[in-house]
Amino acid sequence: MVSIKAPRGVRDILPEESWKWAFVLKTASEVAQDFNYKEVHLPIFEQTELFARGVGSTTDVVEKEMYIFEDRGGRSLTLRPELSASMVRSYLENRMDQRPQPVKLWSAGPMFRYERPQKGRYRQFWQLDFEAIGSQDPYVDVEVIALSVELFKRLGMRGLDVVINSVGCPVCRPVHKEALQEFLESHLEELCPTCRSRYNRNPLRILDCKNPTCRTITENAPKTISYLCPECKEHFEGLKVGLDALGLHYSIDNRLVRGLDYYTKTAYEVLSGDLGAQNAVCGGGRYDNLAEAIGGKHTPGVGFAAGLERIVLTMEQQGCSFGKEPSLEVFVVAVGDFERKEALKLMQEFRREGISSDMDFNGKSFKGQMKLANQLGATYVCILGEEEIKAKKISIKDMKIGEQIEVPKEEAVTFVKKKLTE
Ligand code: AMP
Repeated sequence: MVSIKAPRGVRDILPEESWKWAFVLKTASEVAQDFNYKEVHLPIFEQTELFARGVGSTTDVVEKEMYIFEDRGGRSLTLRPELSASMVRSYLENRMDQRPQPVKLWSAGPMFRYERPQKGRYRQFWQLDFEAIGSQDPYVDVEVIALSVELFKRLGMRGLDVVINSVGCPVCRPVHKEALQEFLESHLEELCPTCRSRYNRNPLRILDCKNPTCRTITENAPKTISYLCPECKEHFEGLKVGLDALGLHYSIDNRLVRGLDYYTKTAYEVLSGDLGAQNAVCGGGRYDNLAEAIGGKHTPGVGFAAGLERIVLTMEQQGCSFGKEPSLEVFVVAVGDFERKEALKLMQEFRREGISSDMDFNGKSFKGQMKLANQLGATYVCILGEEEIKAKKISIKDMKIGEQIEVPKEEAVTFVKKKLTE
């Protein structure tokens, strides 16, 4: 055992799990292709200013959760806590406004947040992130929601609920904020300490506090959708019309406000009953003010991020299929210098035919190698013994039924290949 452990809140994704991740990532890439979203790979660290300005200085993420460090040149950099800000930064920096709009991008990779670790919540976690930048059409919001639902459907996930809301825009939000503060004023002392500190800075967030007392107090609080300006109202109606047209079931959650300041109009989440407290599989919405917040020209956008760990957790709990687990098809048993050299060559032939193969690299005996083949779960074992080599033959053992036959050396690969497709 090493005394140095992985830092608190991070996990190693070992082979037993990584193939499940690969399945989800492959499915995401297929859905992206079907919806015409192109993949991008963006930096894992950005200038701190990007998140400070783009995520919002009063959010939990920026206030308490960012991994900030100074590089050797004295620059303040931050491990990305989310992807929307980077996506919009990349859109602006690479003049993607010159391309056909909206520009539809997706990416997958690790995010970093200094949060209290618990089931489904880590300090390094992966997100699948989809963004459509450059259109304010509510049907783009519909498409983004439909994309996430389609992804989860293709992964076989069940019992998911889509919840939507509209958080308005800088025109209507201040009016709602004032009404909300007025409503909460007489309850200020009863609110939890976090919400009390939010009262002036970010009262909207009081609506999604999980504290039971806060929830009771805000039960009849003014709803954002009751205060929407005509433009936001029309947008919200458009969103509902589009979702209805697709037969996509949803409910309106007046508490859904999102923690990030740049969100405007649509906010949505997909929830799973199988996740416990951290029940959001994905969250997203519209962020029409993000581009301006980071110093670019006004550019509307909408997107969502889904947590990969939470997707896999939900799928495991629901007994969903991750496709076929990759397994070892052939193990070549060979003892002795000449035999081992032949084994190397045989493996090469198998591998070039796309048949996975392996051998012993630790000088094990014949018996030891057979045991290893079993432990590795090989479907077939090819035995290259002294006698087989003399006779230019190979013994092939079907590990499932225990049957063993001899085939001419040059036919071994074709034989196994045929057997594997039977
Ligand atoms: P957010 O960027 O906070 O809207 O989160 C989007 C999605 O990322 C959530 O719905 C989760 O699936 C996932 N997520 C967020 N924070 C964490 C975390 N600390 N650990 C694991 N997954 C997370």
